Amino acid sequence: MAQQPHPTVQKAIERYVELELEIDRLCTARFAGTCIECGGLCCRANHAAMTLGSWWLRQVSVAAHGQWWPEDWATRQGCCAQTPTGCVLHAGRPVCCWSWLCEPLVRQCADVWEVVFYGFISELPGDVARLTPSLDLLQMSEGEIAAAADVLAARVELAHRMLAAGRVLLDPAAAQIDKHRVAMRLICQMPRILQPSVHQALLEKMTTWGWE
Ligand code: SF4
Ligand code: SF4
Repeated sequence: MAQQPHPTVQKAIERYVELELEIDRLCTARFAGTCIECGGLCCRANHAAMTLGSWWLRQVSVAAHGQWWPEDWATRQGCCAQTPTGCVLHAGRPVCCWSWLCEPLVRQCADVWEVVFYGFISELPGDVARLTPSLDLLQMSEGEIAAAADVLAARVELAHRMLAAGRVLLDPAAAQIDKHRVAMRLICQMPRILQPSVHQALLEKMTTWGWE
């Protein structure tokens, strides 16, 4: 029988599942239907095989969904996590399915604050996975993750606090100055938010801010 992970790691898995499920809920609530119209263009290869190959992602996905993969997962042409109603993995997706704020989605964002917020949550799982400059959570064995359990737990809790702080960007009642502060802090802490489609969308939405 498989052993339970280290207790701190087990708790971090549970908290990380909560984080990813919340990101998934926020994404689905804002962009429902866009991927169906787009035709699931980014889901054609068997990307979920990477989840099965990473100890961390496999634990996260099993904690969220039980045994989700089909018996013939290794020989599938398309992604074995794809179903007629979308991706089965609301938590534990592979790294190539992060940074999901693609051009069709970014075009739906109403203002700079939405662009920053959804860019931020799209990058957050990848940010957690880079535990330290030299520790990549997705490449680590169970033993290596147990040895870094405290770093992992702190990183997951920081991600929850960042997500809570980032919500001000969606709050219509929040003061503009608070949105500026939070956006600047998030971008400075996670420069990857400014990936090319986000960067371009921000520039376009800032044209009314002057000097052109
Ligand atoms: S994430 Fe973007 S590219 Fe992928 S299916 Fe959805 S809209 Fe299309
Ligand atoms: S894991 Fe999910 S999001 Fe990623 S390619 Fe497969 S179906 Fe698409």
